[in-house]
Amino acid sequence: MKLIRRIADVRAEVARARRDGRRIGFVPTMGFLHEGHLSLIDRCRELSDWVVLSIFVNPLQFGPGEDLERYPRDLERDVSAAGARGVDLIFAPDDRELYPGEQTVVVTPRRLADRLCGLSRPGHFEGVLTVVAKLFAIVQPDVAVFGQKDYQQALLIRKMAADLDLPVRIEVAPTVRDPDGLAMSSRNDYLSEEERQRALRIPRALADAVGVYRAGARDGPRLRAGILGNLEAGGGVDVEYVEVVSGDALEPVERLDDDTLVAVAVRVGGTRLIDNVRLGSPDPGLETLV
Ligand code: AMP
Repeated sequence: MKLIRRIADVRAEVARARRDGRRIGFVPTMGFLHEGHLSLIDRCRELSDWVVLSIFVNPLQFGPGEDLERYPRDLERDVSAAGARGVDLIFAPDDRELYPGEQTVVVTPRRLADRLCGLSRPGHFEGVLTVVAKLFAIVQPDVAVFGQKDYQQALLIRKMAADLDLPVRIEVAPTVRDPDGLAMSSRNDYLSEEERQRALRIPRALADAVGVYRAGARDGPRLRAGILGNLEAGGGVDVEYVEVVSGDALEPVERLDDDTLVAVAVRVGGTRLIDNVRLGSPDPGLETLV
């Protein structure tokens, strides 16, 4: 496995892999790898035969006052975890390599970014789409794998690839959870044990929503109110949003169906956590809580 810092060197390696007839797979991350990221690598290896992992904490997607500076980093550990999972190349540029000057051109979503996480993080998805477009242009993958945990992000990347005719297949892999149900996240590292206990209301509330749906509930607003109540019961969890929306347009739904997405964002202590579930799709990590 190679660890590469420069765009030109990635291009040379990619050209070689292509000459060898390889199908190129790509997993973009911000590093501090956990089993969720590693599951994307596994999926990517199933779909390709040469896997590039990028590790880059993208300043463009952080707003003022967010955790850019204190975002956890451990490149050495990431390199050994990625190597053990069969990554062929890690691209870990520094800020100046990807942003040598201010971007004159960025990728701005016209729709779907004005809701859910986009409301509290203005410019966030513009930053995400811009860096992913740049990384796609550098790596030129045949397939790229993203996590359902960041559902809105994966949806926007899919739309970007379709609308800009990017020749890449976008694959979305299921959310990986700790045994207690909490979705894995690099930011879970910020949580104290006591905060983590409070954070467990998130998977429990999502599992409860799935259970209620399976038992026949079909009223969107009522489900939403129930989830909100579960998250807030006992205090100590600040709810940013609870949304019960269609999986494609992210529009609030009156009537629940299998396509409905339940998405939440909360703050526990200073830590912002997001999670979601599709009511009709299996989420193995939630099953024991349903
Ligand atoms: P990040 O490093 O947080 O930017 O995440 C990089 C990729 O890993 C994104 O596609 C995320 O959706 C995905 N990811 C993060 N957490 C998880 C998880 N718990 N399960 C599956 N994928 C995840």
